[in-house]
Amino acid sequence: MGHCVVPDAEAILDREYPVLDKGFVRLVDYLGGDDRVVQSARVSYGQGTKSYREDAGLIDYLLRNSHTSPFEQVVLTYHVRLPIFVARQWVRHRTARLNEVSGRYSVMKDDFYLPAAEDIAMQSTDNKQGRSAEALDSEAAEKVRAAMTEGQKASYASYISLVDEGIARELARINLPLSLYTEWYWQIDLHNLFNFLRLRLDAHAQKEIRLYAQVLLEIAERVAPCCCRSFRRHVLNGVRFSSDELAELRKRLGEGREEDSALSGKDLERFEEKLKTGRQL
Ligand SMILES: Cc1cc2nc3c(=O)[nH]c(=O)nc-3n(C[C@H](O)[C@H](O)[C@H](O)COP(=O)(O)OP(=O)(O)OC[C@H]3O[C@@H](n4cnc5c(N)ncnc54)[C@H](O)[C@@H]3O)c2cc1C
Repeated sequence: MGHCVVPDAEAILDREYPVLDKGFVRLVDYLGGDDRVVQSARVSYGQGTKSYREDAGLIDYLLRNSHTSPFEQVVLTYHVRLPIFVARQWVRHRTARLNEVSGRYSVMKDDFYLPAAEDIAMQSTDNKQGRSAEALDSEAAEKVRAAMTEGQKASYASYISLVDEGIARELARINLPLSLYTEWYWQIDLHNLFNFLRLRLDAHAQKEIRLYAQVLLEIAERVAPCCCRSFRRHVLNGVRFSSDELAELRKRLGEGREEDSALSGKDLERFEEKLKTGRQL
């Protein structure tokens, strides 16, 4: 009971996990781990930790049944270096605390995100928010990269010349692009981290933030491996069915009546896709 020291987490404190071309995530600190979830869940019975199997079973039960508050007892603090367009998506998750480098106080570094050639694609025709799954050919991709680099260089040169003229940094920075890197400390509890990961590991999320989410989960697995295993099992790799879909499923299992299933058209296609891929659609 008491203070939790998790050797696997201690071993990676301060280690930089690279993400994108110039970004990283590192674990600054953590509070609690699997044991803290178990301790806090058992507080009402005055019982401490039992066998590993019983503890893992309890964690799995809590996660499966959305008993979320014990997971809020585990807190992680990450240091993240990320492009501003990723940061814009990231800050929508209000249930975290963050402190960001100040562009009013400091001169911003000349660090911009440049997508790799294989990540450059046309606008998707079936997904208004995303890119096509097919990358541009390498010559076309290099042209895009060159145009982006040129824009980044010009905007940084203009920024630095304004700073050198003594213009206030808070004004000089306002034309810098979304590809500029920023940094922050980001602190979140495990329950809300799982919500972040559920949304940002989904295939609908932009690839760049997904790459950060993968690393956040990899690090969280060092802190609370049992919790993360249950999260993968019930949330990340699980699928929700609507009542219509459930009726269709029952019909196919020979347990429901033909007339109870009203799935058709796009809904039926989505259902088939969900069964095939195991993805929440
Ligand atoms: C693929 C994708 C595409 C998106 N596209 C867009 C878009 O086009 N435009 C856009 O604006 N956003 C977009 N978002 C952002 C999205 O709508 C959410 O704002 C974001 O994912 C944060 O989710 P959240 O509210 O669950 O997280 P959190 O803010 O961490 O909230 C977690 C939980 O706490 C609750 N909560 C938090 N704060 C409060 C509060 N003050 N009062 C009451 N309840 C609270 C929330 O309701 C939620 O249940 C997109 C997100 C994804 C994943």
